[in-house]
Amino acid sequence: MNVSIHNTLSRQKDALVPETDTFRMYCCGPTVYGPAHIGNFRTFVVQDALRRTLECSGLKVKHVRNITDVDDKTIRESRKLSMSLKDFTKKWEDKFHADCEKLNMLRPTIEPRATEHIAEQLDMVSKLVDNGHAYPARDGSVYFKISTFDEYGKLAGLDRENMATQATNSAGEANIADEYERESVSDFALWKGRKEEDGENFWKSPWGEGRPGWHIECSAMSKKYLGDTFDLHGGGIDLCFPHHENEIAQSECSTGKSPYVRYWFHSAHLMVEGQKMSKSLGNLYTLDDLTAKGYSPMQIRYALLSGHYRQQLNFTFKGLDDAKSALAKLVKSIKSALERAGMSMNDFKKLTTSKNKIEGTIFESAWKALCDDLNIPRALGEIFGAIGKLDGNKADISALASLMYALGIDVSQEAIEEPKEEAPAEIIAFAQQRWEAKQAKDWAKADELRKKVAELGWNILDKKDGFDLKKI
Ligand code: AMP
Ligand code: ZN
Repeated sequence: MNVSIHNTLSRQKDALVPETDTFRMYCCGPTVYGPAHIGNFRTFVVQDALRRTLECSGLKVKHVRNITDVDDKTIRESRKLSMSLKDFTKKWEDKFHADCEKLNMLRPTIEPRATEHIAEQLDMVSKLVDNGHAYPARDGSVYFKISTFDEYGKLAGLDRENMATQATNSAGEANIADEYERESVSDFALWKGRKEEDGENFWKSPWGEGRPGWHIECSAMSKKYLGDTFDLHGGGIDLCFPHHENEIAQSECSTGKSPYVRYWFHSAHLMVEGQKMSKSLGNLYTLDDLTAKGYSPMQIRYALLSGHYRQQLNFTFKGLDDAKSALAKLVKSIKSALERAGMSMNDFKKLTTSKNKIEGTIFESAWKALCDDLNIPRALGEIFGAIGKLDGNKADISALASLMYALGIDVSQEAIEEPKEEAPAEIIAFAQQRWEAKQAKDWAKADELRKKVAELGWNILDKKDGFDLKKI
């Protein structure tokens, strides 16, 4: 079955069919100037789930995700700490990878760094200058001239009539900032002439010393690793404009090939308690912030996947607790099905690949939901609906393992630790009295108290030097 997604470019649901024998996808990666937040991870985890789902559908996937290690923010922050840009960004890149691993994300096939592809970026800028789509300015910067590209705005649906002549923004300048709003659509920087605040971070170019603009890295590196045109490009919805619109302009005007990308995959943002996440509101969470509160990375992954990717995900601690219970329920059902089949969690882990057949099993409807615009919430609902029917049937268990692969949920991680519920004070007091009775060898009283505690719903588990309480 083909996987389909809503394509921002065609504005409809398209089946993802690769042009060659490999599905080629590019995702804009992190800007490494601090720890990624759970909003960033929502986008990256959804992209990981898409890749895994494509693999389960039988496709070979080449997944490229860049590392933005030079831009306004990385330069500013590294200079504040008097660190070299390289050492500074490496530190945050390593942290990003450690977090990704905890979240059970597959490593992309290639993860190119912007600073290691300056030549490729300069080559593309030169082509654009040579063919009249770009022009050098007096300050040593080079700008893309949007009036030379009739199709500028086709992805974000901009009103071309009104912007085609706008070479400058309202302040009368072409755009030098990496990020800007729709209203300030104007010629944008491909190359930025060296400025005092760049410090040591500059490279030589035909237009003098400087550094690349942000947008050019993705055009240059996707071309190098995936070709002039490729299948899918992903990013958070905020990247649709200007970043992706500018990528299309740079790529299509430098290679002369169109479309640069056939399917555009944008995921909606994560909000926290209904608000935009920001440091100033104190509602910005990293993976470490949540694990410090006792949530496991798998519970966090589950929560990040629990809403449809095209809808904003409202992150709340109630939602995270719900994800925790749902995941515990899923793990418990899988464990008992495995017991009935005489299989271990380790056997299940070995089965957790993209290779098992899902169609024709009790999990077919969950698979259909995944293939239909990556509807993960519906797929999870279908899984819960079918899981009660799981007997020891190995084909069904294998299908479920492949669904876990598609979602990237490693149930074996969660199976180790049974969620332990704290007993109420009253129960602890009775259990304590029983412990004392037992020490005093008053067996009748000890038995009576054990019965009483059991009637109240708790089992006393004796240990060498005390007791544990487990809810019945
Ligand atoms: P950045 O590191 O800022 O370049 O962003 C990395 C990825 O995270 C991009 O695809 C962004 O679109 C995405 N992103 C940023 N903020 C959020 C958010 N609040 N929710 C979801 N995705 C986000
Ligand atoms: Zn990008």
